[in-house]
This record gives sequence, C-alpha cells and structure tokens, in this order.
Amino acid sequence: MARRRQIYEGKAKVLFEGPEPGTLVQYFKDDATAFNNQKRGVITGKGVLNNRISEYLMTRLAEVGVPTHFVRRLNMREQLVREVEIIPVEVVVRNIAAGSICKRLGIAEATPLPRSIVEYYYKNDELGDPLVAEEHVTAFGWATPQDLDDMMAMALRVNDFLSGLFLGVGIRLVDFKLEFGRLWNDEEMRIVLADEITPDGCRLWDIETNESMDKDRFRRDLGNVVEAYQEVARRLGIMPEAGPRDMKGPVTLQ
Ligand code: UDP
Repeated sequence: MARRRQIYEGKAKVLFEGPEPGTLVQYFKDDATAFNNQKRGVITGKGVLNNRISEYLMTRLAEVGVPTHFVRRLNMREQLVREVEIIPVEVVVRNIAAGSICKRLGIAEATPLPRSIVEYYYKNDELGDPLVAEEHVTAFGWATPQDLDDMMAMALRVNDFLSGLFLGVGIRLVDFKLEFGRLWNDEEMRIVLADEITPDGCRLWDIETNESMDKDRFRRDLGNVVEAYQEVARRLGIMPEAGPRDMKGPVTLQ
C-alpha cells in the first residue's frame, strides 16, 4: 500500500499530505514530551483519545461560529484538516494561575486570576517558546495587529465557550494553548483555529477535587495519565465506541 507523503513530524502528531490539494491528514501519536523536550514518554492510547476529543471540541466551536481548520475525523488516529500557514505564535489563555505564570510572577497555584489573561509565546523549540509581547509579534512580522486582534477575540470566545462546556461536565478549564493559521481562499485570507484542543495543551481540573485531568499528570509523574484523558472523554460523552480495547493495537494507514 502506498504510504502518503509525510509533510512534518511534531512531538505528538504527524502531518501527511491530504487526499485533495489544500488538505492535510493529522495523525495523533501516543508520544508525550514536556519541559521543552527534556522529558519524553509514550502514553498508550493517548493519540486515539486526543483525536476524538479535538474532533469534538473543534466541531462544537465551529457550531458557535469559530472558524477552524478541522474537516472531519477519518479513523481512530487521523483527521482531515485544511492546510493553513501556521502563525508562529502560541496563544495561551489563563483563568486560574498554574504552571509558568506561578513561577514567573510568584502567584500561588490555583489562585483565580482577576480576569482571563491572554499571553503570546513565540513558537520556537530552540528558544523554548519564550513569552513575548504584542510588540514583538508585530515588529518581527509574525502576525499583523489585525491578525492579533482576530486571534485575541477568537481565543476569548473559545475560552468562554469551552469554560462553560467543561463546567457542565464537572471540569474547570484552568488554562489552555491555541494555535492559529492563515487560510487562503483565492486572494482572501482568514485566520482560523488550527492544531488541536486536547488535554495535552489544556489544564483541566476536576471541579470537586481539583485533581489534574491533563498532561500535568505526565509532567509531574502523577500516574493514570490515559485514564484521566479517558475520563475527560467519558464526561464529554464521547468515549470511543468500543471502549478502551479500541485504543490498542496497530492502526492501518490508508
Ligand atoms: N502549553 C502547551 N504547549 C506549550 C506550552 C504550554 O500546550 O508549548 C499549554 C499547557 O499545557 C498549559 C498552558 O499552555 O495548559 C499554559 O502553560 P504554561 O505557560 O503554564 O507552561 P507549562 O507550565 O505547561 O510549561
């Protein structure tokens, strides 16, 4: 069987050429990395869960008018997406202090923030994705002021919508990271949500116990990583049909 051409391999996903021009296939791996690649591991079944969770969240967001690159899920580990030009800026939205903001600003973990805070990080592995200001983003031409306005507005809409969605299933959306891309249509360009929305790039805490249900379980060696992702999927009502058995074993690539 002819293998598709691989376009890019990232830490948790591989991108293949799609079936039509302007499309790509996103393949979700079980690999996990943390602390700028210093910690690596394999979380068996994570890719299947993330593929399904991202499909669900991107679809729900599209329903409320947030444009995304997502087209459809193809199989257990793959989804069809539109090819976009990724903007090299990671947008982080925070509702509650956790992770790097605690260290940087000396805030105790779990402190509610006075309002949602949007931060920009320059997407550059060699530099460890440094925090940057809008000034850097526009001065270096990574995005225009108009692009940034669009990204900020979309990030806040995503935050409002997802905070409510997760709250409804007993999960606090503490923070999350988004990536955006430029989608070209003839001469017109619009910015759409790209990449993925999964527990790999979100902090999700159980509303009752504040237990982490996200990649912090891997970062901090808390154990039961895939079980936590499974619980997120279960609460969202989207556990893969045949249950955990589906998450193991080889997956046929078309
Ligand atoms: N995040 C991410 N990719 C990154 C950096 C951060 O997905 O390269 C997510 C992370 O999972 C968390 C949020 O963005 O949900 C904020 O991360 P933070 O800046 O606190 O960094 P961390 O403590 O994760 O290193």
